[in-house]
Amino acid sequence: MPDPATLARLSEAVDANFDRQVAFLAELVRFPSRRGSEAPLQDWLARAFRERGYAVDRFTLADVPLEAHPKASPMVDADPARAVQVVAAHRAQAQAGRSLILQGHIDVVPEGPPAMWTYPPYAAVIRDGWMYGRGAHDMKAGVACMVFAMDAIRTAGFAPAADVYLQTVTEEESTGNGALATLLRGYRADAALIPEPTGHAITRAHTGTLWFRLKVRGVPVHVAVAQDGSNAILSAMHLVHALFAHTRMLNEAAKAHPWYAEVPQPIKFNPGIIRGGDWASSTPAWCEVDCRIGLLPGTEVADAMAGVQRAVQEAAARDAFLANNPPHLLWHGFQADGYVLEPGSEAEAVLAAAHAQVHGGAMPERLSTAVNDTRFYGLYFGIPALCYGPKGEGAHGVDERTSIADLRRCTLTIAAFIADWCGLRPRAA
Ligand SMILES: [Zn+2]
Repeated sequence: MPDPATLARLSEAVDANFDRQVAFLAELVRFPSRRGSEAPLQDWLARAFRERGYAVDRFTLADVPLEAHPKASPMVDADPARAVQVVAAHRAQAQAGRSLILQGHIDVVPEGPPAMWTYPPYAAVIRDGWMYGRGAHDMKAGVACMVFAMDAIRTAGFAPAADVYLQTVTEEESTGNGALATLLRGYRADAALIPEPTGHAITRAHTGTLWFRLKVRGVPVHVAVAQDGSNAILSAMHLVHALFAHTRMLNEAAKAHPWYAEVPQPIKFNPGIIRGGDWASSTPAWCEVDCRIGLLPGTEVADAMAGVQRAVQEAAARDAFLANNPPHLLWHGFQADGYVLEPGSEAEAVLAAAHAQVHGGAMPERLSTAVNDTRFYGLYFGIPALCYGPKGEGAHGVDERTSIADLRRCTLTIAAFIADWCGLRPRAA
């Protein structure tokens, strides 16, 4: 870990830049960077990186051979050519320390009904030490931390003694293809840190995720003779109930999992979007439900998909109409593995030391029941990937918010981590 004098210099530098950091985060939050609309923010970030002197690579998912990679997920509802990724490189004069990737996603999930929010979801209002807004917590705060950790090193008069890549990606909330694209573009390092908002805990493991769309047909008739038709919305409900039963069975089996045994119901199933029907007095001719289900580390994606398929088929076979009009499953979005950060890596030890130096005490660990982008580094490219970041509340909900005080602490922790992992040298004037 950095010596106390260096840590003090970094701490002063974080403080000196902090007003600018909060303004930077507010600027990020003001971009409604939902899926398909991330480009303006990515362009803004590319400019911010260029102003700091980084070599900036701006590319889209259409620029890399995504389809050729077995772990790319299908994108049905999004255009790869519009999904902009940004990599800003600090290239060390002479490589002395260990290189590092700092990565954050800037895509956010939809904000839901604005009337449910205390403050408008893209206004970045600050009250009582919290900044409110969609993405403030998940994970634009982490992006601000990694950018300003590097700024603090510069302000303190140092430069990392190894290459550092600052990467802002999209698609974390839907496929993970943004993170994969940076790897397919050729970026590599000795470790990766993804400052998702973990409340200063290291993510020991995360579950995988599958997305699929259930498509069901009905027979439209006047509701006066509903018995002659078939209601697609009710058929979809039948299948949703069957998928909850399937999930209960998976959670029973999870009680024997080496990492998730103690986590109650680690596999979450969620019907998240429903569309269907055309008229209140007609039996619906169609219904579509977009669903998400988790899988545990160690379960093959193909096996989890087959399990869903089987549950749907068996439920359809039990239904007089669906037995002859089988539902269709469209696989789109996440086909993500779970991932375990095996204890004992040097990268984790260095982060734990930085955490202890800034926070005092051991770095806590957490088991996540949702996915993050570390799997691409850890599972497919042999790069130890740490998921650790600031503190907030309300991810994917209303009144999402990030703690300003924790933003500062996390920035210093990441700066201390970079100092030790990459090494520091005096910055050339
Ligand atoms: Zn996130």
